[in-house]
Amino acid sequence: MALTGIQILKMLPKKNCGECDIPTCLAFAMKVAAGQAEIEACPYVSDEAKQTIGEASAPPIRTVKIGTADSETVIGGETCLFRHEKRFENQTAIAVLIGTDENDADVDGKINRFNSMIYERVGVMMQASFIVVKDSNGDQGAFTALVDKVAKNASKASLILMTENIDIMKAAASSCSDRKPLLFGANSDNWESMAEYAKEMDLALGVQGKNIDDLVSVSEKLVKAGIKDMVLDTGARTVRAAFEDNVVARRAAIKDKFKALGFPTITFPCEMTDDDMMEAMIASTLMAKYAGIVVLSDLQGDTLFPLLLEQLNIFTDPQRPMVVEEDIYPVAGPDENSPVLITCNFSLTYFIVSGEIEGSKVPSWLLIKDTEGLSVLTAWAAGKFGADLIAQFVNKSGIADKVKHRELIIPGYLATIKGELEEELPEWTITIGPREAGHLPAFLKEWQPAK
Ligand code: SF4
Repeated sequence: MALTGIQILKMLPKKNCGECDIPTCLAFAMKVAAGQAEIEACPYVSDEAKQTIGEASAPPIRTVKIGTADSETVIGGETCLFRHEKRFENQTAIAVLIGTDENDADVDGKINRFNSMIYERVGVMMQASFIVVKDSNGDQGAFTALVDKVAKNASKASLILMTENIDIMKAAASSCSDRKPLLFGANSDNWESMAEYAKEMDLALGVQGKNIDDLVSVSEKLVKAGIKDMVLDTGARTVRAAFEDNVVARRAAIKDKFKALGFPTITFPCEMTDDDMMEAMIASTLMAKYAGIVVLSDLQGDTLFPLLLEQLNIFTDPQRPMVVEEDIYPVAGPDENSPVLITCNFSLTYFIVSGEIEGSKVPSWLLIKDTEGLSVLTAWAAGKFGADLIAQFVNKSGIADKVKHRELIIPGYLATIKGELEEELPEWTITIGPREAGHLPAFLKEWQPAK
């Protein structure tokens, strides 16, 4: 049960020293209660209080980290049933399955597609996160060799090792333990040996039930055995059953604080159909309803890209505007004679404007000014996109070293600040661009630098 700020305050040393970067213990306690500060930030709090507060403020779906450094993927950490209640924390990770029964060409193809299918959208890099290596036929040598190959050739992949055989698991996991893979294969028969090995290696454990009840019984035993990081598979292999199980598990964890189901789930659309398009549809459905990981049979651009976009849409925090970094963005290979445009750093604006410039085929320099994610008019009204701030940014951006001319194209909606901007930037000619990004191609095709 979550603690209130006052309950947390009672456990703090009340020195009001500010070493937690918050001026008073009361303010700190309120922030911890709201999930905006970590109890570890106070150096004086006792270990006992840390444990009590930490457990009480832990999310009902445990945050599980798999992999290391470049290849780390974080799943779970969820605190609500619906995004509008707060936000969803960690996006559903997309995985591709490679089995020991596949030939070399297929394996190489999947690894290559995993490595190469990286997309940029509104300044965010998107790609699949996991490779699931499956022991399809109980051949220890083949499984270890395949795990080694994947680990060596897909350095950015978080790994999931999938076998129910503890000896085969140990042989493969010991060769890639530095990548902190997820050991996927605990069930009602082998859970003790799997738990022991996961604890010894400090690795997360994947648990598979025959159904959700069986999963709960294994999960409860693993929790009692001291396993902290788990990923759950209810064993459902139809879209309806998987959907229902995901909803039941999330509700039980969030509403009833049912610990045995308080872990992210893994689902297998790849085992629910042979049709690629249907597989993507199932993955899409399960992403919308709580899957921590969806496992696909292959990665193809026409299905992966829409799934990544869905991921972006569902897991974007609606209370925080998406932004791109303040910078100079070259679009379509500009040179010293190319036009220079400026706009705000609301990522949707950036995406639309840069897309229209690209579509115009007129190479251009696009200056993105930090407006804290506000759109052009809102930023101007809020005093974050005024002439003085634009001038400061233009002067420090270094754009003057990249072009021979001195002409700056501003959004049509900022026409009223043209005069002010000319005073702030006396060396520059200020040109008013179109109000709508859709009119940029025609505008740029006509553009000639001012004399
Ligand atoms: Fe209070 Fe600890 Fe913060 Fe100091 S560091 S103000 S004692 S919560």
